[in-house]
Amino acid sequence: MKIDLRSDTVTKPTQGMLEAMMSASVGDDVYKEDPSVNELERRLADLFGMDEALFFPTGSMANQTALKLHTNPGEQVICDKYAHIYNYEGGGASFNSGISCKLVNGHRGMFTVEQAMECINPPDFYHSPLTTLIEVENTTNKGGGACWDFDELIKLRQLADKHKLGYHLDGARLWNALVAKNENPKQYGQLFDTISVCLSKGLGCPMGSVLIGNKEIMKGAIRVRKILGGGMRQIGYVAAAGLYALDHHLDRLAEDHKKAKEIAEVLRTLSKIKTVEPIETNIIIFELNNDINETEFLNALHEKNIHIIGMGSNKLRMVTHLDYTDAMHSTLLEQLKTI
Ligand SMILES: *Cc1c(COP(=O)(O)O)cnc(C)c1O
Repeated sequence: MKIDLRSDTVTKPTQGMLEAMMSASVGDDVYKEDPSVNELERRLADLFGMDEALFFPTGSMANQTALKLHTNPGEQVICDKYAHIYNYEGGGASFNSGISCKLVNGHRGMFTVEQAMECINPPDFYHSPLTTLIEVENTTNKGGGACWDFDELIKLRQLADKHKLGYHLDGARLWNALVAKNENPKQYGQLFDTISVCLSKGLGCPMGSVLIGNKEIMKGAIRVRKILGGGMRQIGYVAAAGLYALDHHLDRLAEDHKKAKEIAEVLRTLSKIKTVEPIETNIIIFELNNDINETEFLNALHEKNIHIIGMGSNKLRMVTHLDYTDAMHSTLLEQLKTI
């Protein structure tokens, strides 16, 4: 039995999802004539209480579009040093928007309003890049699935308002935060100018992300998506997977969170492991003892057909997901004890 915990992106569509995809009504979405895409976009805009939503092939493209909508070349976005937009989007912020990132030295991918304040360059000091955007990630990927304190997000909104900055949420795994903290999407819709969410992570779709925002900022989104090569035709087959996932795969994220906590409990008993980061959602990040070789540890797991990934600096990551079954879970817990 192969146990693949490298990411929650490794899932394959369920039978129910495949059937929803097969029976989708479709049209040419570049002409905005795909009923399934239109339904998904409407549904997500309504869910977050915002005006509009736009379907994207990837989360990176949705984030990159947001960066472009909020900034002009030469400007600067404030984000955490762990941010996905900075670390894992191929340098897209500079390539696509010609902007730089001001990195905050946060904790587990999150920072305080005081830290953000220190990063704002005075607008009349023309030697420095003009700060025009604050970007946060919830849950944090490199931060180990940590969830922001909503009160801090409110304070950041107030800071953004005071300095006339845009406010973007990379909500690739916002679904996990909503379930873990029992929060409402509308709380987020009221706070942010733009929000990206992934359908291809915990929700188990083969692909797809959505950028959500109010009318004014979203005006240019479809053009930027086209420029980035993201105009898609009968993509309703994929949007139908998203609609199916919203109905069937949202509440079950709590199961992934429970399994992640149980894995962490076992990891904490192992002598080879130095620390396990607190588990809030479906991501487990742990650090090996200094005398343990990472490659050897990964190979030992590999031999047992258990697949996880290294995050650098002796840290490893596991992510629980829809295709990680109860049977795999009990096998994993047993096997870990023998490592
Ligand atoms: C996965 C992810 C994205 C988007 O990634 P794609 O692979 O481009 O869909 C964006 N932000 C975060 C935090 C992510 O985890």
